[in-house]
Amino acid sequence: MSAVAEVLSTVAHNPDPRGSDLPTCPVCADSMVAAEASAYLTDNIISYLWTCDTCGYGFVTKHALKRIACN
Ligand SMILES: [Zn+2]
Repeated sequence: MSAVAEVLSTVAHNPDPRGSDLPTCPVCADSMVAAEASAYLTDNIISYLWTCDTCGYGFVTKHALKRIACN
């Protein structure tokens, strides 16, 4: 239940998420809409858990966050 709330919150704060960051399913090539969950691996690496609504395939992506203050 809490995961759903997180996803909705994430979408609401990103008015135009359909950009270059959204992955596609490696099995059926469907577009991912929102991550199921996210977790910080380090201070500037975040991982997202994606689950395909079409085929149910799950996978994880990792993203490096750019820091403006500590560059
Ligand atoms: Zn799929």
